[in-house]
Amino acid sequence: MKLKHLLLTALLGTGMMLNAAAPRYIFYFIGDGMGMGHVMAAQSYNRTVLGNNDPILMMQFPVAASAHTYSASSPVTDSAAAGTALATGHKTKNGMLGMDADTIAVQSIAKDLKADGFGIGLVTSGAPDDATPGAFYAHVPNRGLWYDVCKDYITSGYEFLGGANIRGTNDGQPTEILKEFEKKGIKVATELDQLKNFKSKRVAVFKGCEISPYEIGYTIDSLENAMTLPALTEACLAHLEKVSPKKFFMMVEGGNIDHAAHANDGGAVIKEILNFNQAIKVAYDFYLAHPDETMIVITADHDTGGMAIGSKFTGYNAYLQYIDHQKMSKDAFSDWCRALLKSRRNYTWEDMKEFLTENLGFWKYVPVNEEQTSKLQNMFESTFELRNSADQKTLYNNFNAFAVEVFNVMNDVAGIGWISNNHTGNEVPVYAIGVGADKFASFNNNTDIPVKIMSIVKQ
Ligand SMILES: [Zn+2]
Repeated sequence: MKLKHLLLTALLGTGMMLNAAAPRYIFYFIGDGMGMGHVMAAQSYNRTVLGNNDPILMMQFPVAASAHTYSASSPVTDSAAAGTALATGHKTKNGMLGMDADTIAVQSIAKDLKADGFGIGLVTSGAPDDATPGAFYAHVPNRGLWYDVCKDYITSGYEFLGGANIRGTNDGQPTEILKEFEKKGIKVATELDQLKNFKSKRVAVFKGCEISPYEIGYTIDSLENAMTLPALTEACLAHLEKVSPKKFFMMVEGGNIDHAAHANDGGAVIKEILNFNQAIKVAYDFYLAHPDETMIVITADHDTGGMAIGSKFTGYNAYLQYIDHQKMSKDAFSDWCRALLKSRRNYTWEDMKEFLTENLGFWKYVPVNEEQTSKLQNMFESTFELRNSADQKTLYNNFNAFAVEVFNVMNDVAGIGWISNNHTGNEVPVYAIGVGADKFASFNNNTDIPVKIMSIVKQ
């Protein structure tokens, strides 16, 4: 007894007992496709355009480190292999979800925490049965097996799932699988407001936007009635505080960051990261109220596009203020071009110039030189008059050729550079605050991150 007492006194004296308690509230943020360049672009915009002296919230966290993202099959991972690494601590082949490279099912930390009595919530701005959230509950050899992915969610026992429409359904229309959700006691909402009145312990909210049923809407498009990631994060937090107030784990994915980066839409990426940062603020406010019991870890599954500040066109400068004149995403603009082509309306180059001035600030606020203007005009003619230009195919969309040219000009003049429309093997950031945060303060492999989270919980 005496020895124990002495030991305790000694430990308290050295401060070693501080933060010794395991965290009861864990927030795991994953910016899909959010490379170092993407965060730095958002921070440059925050500093030079918004005029803020303080860096964006995630950069204020006491731990700022980085991580490898390679998969078992490639130096360039996809979201399924990367999600599996971040959720389970196992490397796997691209395309595989919740299974190791030998197709043996591996368990996510969300399942381990669930078994330990934690309430579990998963939130995304993309489809909740897509790769990143799926890695926390599904075991499939191919990420496209959405119906099976959804079935694995149903048996997971998790308390909250939120995002755009699930794809285990037929074109977002309720089919068999949604009935299965309800049969197993998961009450499904189509609007955030409905959740407050639900009595069920397990709830879900699925709502796409007018541009895509599988996205909740880009921040830059400011779509009316669209769900936002911060609002979804708040709803998930409120539900977990209600049904599992003693301990819970939340994964929040900024899925739209990846979609905008695949599109090489620099303005949309920056606005999406600032929105992701607002979702982080929801967790940070919770942390301020429970600092000794909360852990927040932020990372990315991979870099998409190799975005950088600086372009061949702008040399030693960038003009991020121009993106404030961008009122629509490349996705929205491309859809609009397609609808225009379909309508066979007589639309002249002068009409298009007016539209570009109104929606992207071209010529009036965003300087577009003669050479760029004639390139745009040529592409306008081949797309809308000769109708012989080819679409640009990316993972989440096919872009109209004229839209591609327009956004190339936007990136060039704003000073935003891109490597490709695909993922890259670049390192990604890791930020942490709260209980055990210092464990992340080194160069991490992505598989280390869930292992470290569990070691802190089990300390
Ligand atoms: Zn991607």
